Amino acid sequence: MDRRKTREVRVGSVTLGGENPIAVQSMCATKTTDLDATEKQIRLLLSAGADIIRIAIDSRNDVLALKELSQRVAANFVVDLQENYRLAKDVGPYVKKFRYNPGHLHHHQKSVSIEDKVKFLVDTAGEFDCAIRIGVNFGSLDPALKEQGTSPIAVAYESALDHCALMDKFGFERFVVSLKSSNPESVVEINSKFAKECPQIPLHLGVTEAGMLPMGEIKTRIAFEQLLSQGIGETLRVSLTLPDNEKDKEIIIAKKIIEDVTSGRYRSVPKHLPAGLNVISCPSCSRVENKAFVELAYRVKDAVEYAKEHNITIAVMGCRVNGPGETDEADLGLWCAPTFVNFKKGHDLIGKFSYEEVVGKLKIEVDKLIATGPTV
Ligand code: SF4
Repeated sequence: MDRRKTREVRVGSVTLGGENPIAVQSMCATKTTDLDATEKQIRLLLSAGADIIRIAIDSRNDVLALKELSQRVAANFVVDLQENYRLAKDVGPYVKKFRYNPGHLHHHQKSVSIEDKVKFLVDTAGEFDCAIRIGVNFGSLDPALKEQGTSPIAVAYESALDHCALMDKFGFERFVVSLKSSNPESVVEINSKFAKECPQIPLHLGVTEAGMLPMGEIKTRIAFEQLLSQGIGETLRVSLTLPDNEKDKEIIIAKKIIEDVTSGRYRSVPKHLPAGLNVISCPSCSRVENKAFVELAYRVKDAVEYAKEHNITIAVMGCRVNGPGETDEADLGLWCAPTFVNFKKGHDLIGKFSYEEVVGKLKIEVDKLIATGPTV
């Protein structure tokens, strides 16, 4: 496997790109403020060989929790900032990298320009010796670019290039880019294109919301094996919907994929997503609205198994961050609120149902789609 040679980006004790090994990472699915559960999960990920660990930070209480966690266990922490980008300043002393999503910078403080928000993040990263990841996600794209009406791939690509241009403008080189979709073929297409156009910039690979095993691993392999075998990818994350005590599987599977590609065993898997039922689900994180989400995702998977010969996409998402966006693209979508589940058909809300009753409602809609749609 001949790897491309990007510039190096240091993240604490790990350096991404250049001649360095591909770094593997994961994200805690526990509530950040649940210190014991989060510490346990960090240790689980580290023991499996995680190089970098991402934590969601949305509030000052999360910042205090991360401060305490950084004293309990040494790790290269990355903070996942969503709308509240200003928390970077508070969390800077405890982390080695900031991840921001260009699509989310539009939500808060609308009077401040995107350029000024990015400048704030760049200055803060410089102050605390941190790297940055520009994390573009197809489920939460830049709304201003989306309005132009081009394809999600075109919007995601343009968004990434715009933010790379801002990094150049501010003279900041210590950054990586991720371009994630739940569709592995889109992940291959957009990352291959970006790697060609920006050969110096390290790429963080990921198939987001890949879902549950075994399909979650298959989807991830479809993308990673094609990209890694072209020498593309300086760090990666496998995103799977798993119970908290099995989160280390993300790291174990990531390492296995790298090992398989390195030894040439990657040819055994398909290059395209198999036809038939496709269940998308997020890997869960501190933002999940109800811990019953993981169980719900598994109940959905089992309940719709009978539709496996039909080209139906069902998305099950843990919260409002990527829930509305990812369910828009699915035939049927469920996204969690604290006490109920939003159930959608395409862009339209069918209703809000309890965690117990929503699976029955889903099956009724699946049956309607089976009655009208073609079989594989
Ligand atoms: S959809 Fe929400 S709960 Fe799921 S991983 Fe994304 S932010 Fe976390």
